[in-house]
Amino acid sequence: DLRHGVILYLEDINVSFDGFKALNNLNLYINKGELRCIIGPNGAGKSTMMDVITGKTRPDTGSAWFGQNINLLALDEPAIAEAGIGRKFQKPTVFEPLTVEENLELAMAGNKGVWQTFVSKLSGEDRDHLEATLLLIGLVSERHRQAGVLSHGQKQWLEIGMLLMQRPELLLVDEPVAGMTHQEMERTAELLKQLAGKHSVVVVEHDMDFVRSIANKVTVLHQGSVLAEGTMSQVQADPKVIEVYLGE
Ligand code: ADP
Ligand code: MG
Repeated sequence: DLRHGVILYLEDINVSFDGFKALNNLNLYINKGELRCIIGPNGAGKSTMMDVITGKTRPDTGSAWFGQNINLLALDEPAIAEAGIGRKFQKPTVFEPLTVEENLELAMAGNKGVWQTFVSKLSGEDRDHLEATLLLIGLVSERHRQAGVLSHGQKQWLEIGMLLMQRPELLLVDEPVAGMTHQEMERTAELLKQLAGKHSVVVVEHDMDFVRSIANKVTVLHQGSVLAEGTMSQVQADPKVIEVYLGE
């Protein structure tokens, strides 16, 4: 089976906006447990690709599979999230008046109705998951602080924690280190590396030093297609990649 061990399988995806091809026969395979970085110049189609995976944009043609047998093109956005794909946008959307812990509880409650009622009924397993997540995102000692007073980096980690509350199999992360200090970037690299294995993680990022520090495999998008794929040193030595980046 071609798709064995593959968590995400995009094949010949085409997306046009008023005749302009944002994605042009895009093919992408992400393995289970992989941490993949997607890079590429502005307008390459990175966000459109994320939109196709999460159901925000429907491709004109192509196929998109999640795991062995979930056809993403047959599901709407909420169903895709429910199936196990979590997306983190660039701007954190934490609830600032609530504490760190309350934000995680709320994220876990999802659409299960009233949050307070939900929290009082949290199972031991869910409570353990919340504690483990607090530890993972490095916010144990901030748990009772309002999210609004956190640093930019801490808000980003909290939002990753909120995604983890839904136990996604695949995490899509858009520019996680934009605006972060060097120290926060290092912490984020550690966090994403810890997520891989248990989850599959796809990161769109512009900071090349950061990409080099986390990813074994990098995919370069250009004009809606895959231009190159491999290790950072492989793609950096690729004449096609050099040409595209010099022309930016
Ligand atoms: P990236 O995220 O790599 O910068 P995008 O996926 O945002 O690239 O965009 C790819 C191309 O598609 C760009 O030229 C962009 O202007 C165009 N595009 C994206 N979304 C739309 C839209 N909703 N309507 C029209 N054009 C769009
Ligand atoms: Mg973009």
